[in-house]
Amino acid sequence: MEKIAIIGAGASGIMAAMVAKNKNNSIDLYEKNSSIAKKIRASGNGRCNITNRNITKYDYFGNNLDFLEYGLREFDFFKFEKLCNNMGLYLSVQDDGKVYPCSFESASVVKIFEEKLDEKGINISLKSEIIDITKQKDKFMLQKSDKSIKFYDKVLISTGSKAASKLGGNSFGEKIAKKFGHHLFPSYPSLVQLETKEREVIRLSGVKIWAKVTLHSKIDKDISILGDVLFTRYGLSGFAILDISPFVSKLLLENKEVILSIDMLPKFSVQMLQSILIKSCKNNPNSSFETILLGLLPQKVANNISFKLGFKSKKMKDLSLKDIKKSVYAIKDCRYSIKDTHGYEYAEVCGGGIDTLQIDPKSLESKLVKNLYFLGESLDIVGKRGGYNLAFAWMSGYLAGRGINPNKERD
Ligand SMILES: Cc1cc2nc3c(=O)[nH]c(=O)nc-3n(C[C@H](O)[C@H](O)[C@H](O)COP(=O)(O)OP(=O)(O)OC[C@H]3O[C@@H](n4cnc5c(N)ncnc54)[C@H](O)[C@@H]3O)c2cc1C
Repeated sequence: MEKIAIIGAGASGIMAAMVAKNKNNSIDLYEKNSSIAKKIRASGNGRCNITNRNITKYDYFGNNLDFLEYGLREFDFFKFEKLCNNMGLYLSVQDDGKVYPCSFESASVVKIFEEKLDEKGINISLKSEIIDITKQKDKFMLQKSDKSIKFYDKVLISTGSKAASKLGGNSFGEKIAKKFGHHLFPSYPSLVQLETKEREVIRLSGVKIWAKVTLHSKIDKDISILGDVLFTRYGLSGFAILDISPFVSKLLLENKEVILSIDMLPKFSVQMLQSILIKSCKNNPNSSFETILLGLLPQKVANNISFKLGFKSKKMKDLSLKDIKKSVYAIKDCRYSIKDTHGYEYAEVCGGGIDTLQIDPKSLESKLVKNLYFLGESLDIVGKRGGYNLAFAWMSGYLAGRGINPNKERD
């Protein structure tokens, strides 16, 4: 009987275990947490954005995106949906392509997978951290944190990335890959909040606006994203910030200066906003500048802009055309220097990782070490927000499971 160890019971490890199991193998699934799939549980704010209906390789970041082509063909949305439906897990596809379980509860997804693992006879060891792997002839020797040792024919490493250590994230996968001679790309936090040099964000803390965020680049094209921006005590959060964070994080990794511009009223062009303010000077000459801004923006933002411009005590009739132009730019091109991301602890995912040129895209087996597989987020593939990261975890788990269990039907 072939003995297989899967290290890490997240999305990729669970999927691999389910697909790999047959009557000729025994599978031990090791998980250092006291329960499986903590990241799935936390995903989509507890609603689990389980995958995306429309996925291409361009929804990912990595140094070798062609790696994804085989998997995206072999394990497309319909295959995933069929697999879920066969387990009794039904999916709800949203207009924007995001897919959730019909229950909109991540706990239900975990429960269904948990039962299936049990039914298939996978041996799950919880609170079992693997601390080292060595190869002795054609066997792998796994060492647990309690110093016990076990031998396996095949080992799948599905330990995720450094992101969100409270949920189990760490760099074990990278450590083992490096030990066995693989090349790694430097890791960086992604889908993460950003810390600003400007302390003024403290004054705005708690305010959420719908804005356009632009990353100005001296080398590449500017990148703009529309969405929520939430001001925090340390800097910026919200979906638009998370979505732009992979680009920012990569620039920070290269020690580049990063300036973000926030357009707080993207619905108005510069000309429209200028004429609104000019009209207000005529119609409401005795109103304070700050009160006029309150008709357009949240109070803390209005306060901050009038404070920054030194217009706190100014009435509309006191404003010159130059003052109006200055205020328009303060609203539509409010710039922040990014000093750092908010860190791995708060990141949803991690970019960088194991070089996929050294991994077989069809089976996820290492090209350097036979019978050693790397899946999920430890690889140099990271997705946008919107279900793409779980999609890759499921996909890589499926391919690795099928690599081990080649008789698995290819419907
Ligand atoms: C808060 C949050 C919300 C998210 N929401 C979404 C979402 O809605 N949609 C989406 O697509 N993606 C989401 N993601 C990202 C997604 O959860 C991950 O990309 C995905 O879970 C990665 O799967 P994985 O199998 O590679 O690793 P993980 O899910 O991280 O699983 C790795 C497992 O290995 C265990 N482990 C690590 N080291 C060891 C060891 N040495 N021994 C034993 N066990 C070990 C860990 O405890 C963990 O359980 C979210 C992430 C976070 C943090």
